[in-house]
Amino acid sequence: MENIDYEALVKALKSRRFLPEVFNTAEEAKAAALNIIGTKSVGIGGSATVRDMGLAEALQSNGNQVYWHWLAAKEAKQATRDKALHAGVYMCSANALTLDGRLVNIDGTGNRAAGLIYGPHEIVVIVGKNKIVSSLDEALDRIKRDACPTNARRLGLNTPCAKTGQCHDCRTAERMCNVTFILEAPTRPVNAFHVLLVKEDLGL
Ligand code: SF4
Repeated sequence: MENIDYEALVKALKSRRFLPEVFNTAEEAKAAALNIIGTKSVGIGGSATVRDMGLAEALQSNGNQVYWHWLAAKEAKQATRDKALHAGVYMCSANALTLDGRLVNIDGTGNRAAGLIYGPHEIVVIVGKNKIVSSLDEALDRIKRDACPTNARRLGLNTPCAKTGQCHDCRTAERMCNVTFILEAPTRPVNAFHVLLVKEDLGL
């Protein structure tokens, strides 16, 4: 989305008790994320944004314990997802962020839903400008159009979107759109839900 009013977006997020910060570059946001996390352990949800920013590697070289199933062997992925839910911090991106401050995600296994809704008490969500949309309808359109087919192909799933690039609201066994959730505000009693807004395109 072009011509984003970040001042209004920050105000909308703050009104919902999120902790937003705006960064011109992914490098600046990366430094901020590392600063927020400090020495704590980190669970990471599936995120091309986090991958492309090199955050897991930076955390590991700083000595942080990192639980990320994208780095785990196939047989260890489920255990790694489980451990991520008990880390000091949970980090991922969002599939979309509406201008009125709602975070929208679609999950296959539900690990990001669990992490963001009932996981670690401190959360870092990083959102590139390509994820910002004007409405919930646009959020779901964006996710189904841009994120799902690309992710289905990346994961080698046997779904219609992997073949055609479009959602067919399938009922296939490998369907990846099993949970759609909208975070209207942090669910935790503690006020530690950071939303790092980056004025660059990041992730899918
Ligand atoms: S519902 Fe099926 S076809 Fe549609 S995006 Fe999800 S996995 Fe792909």
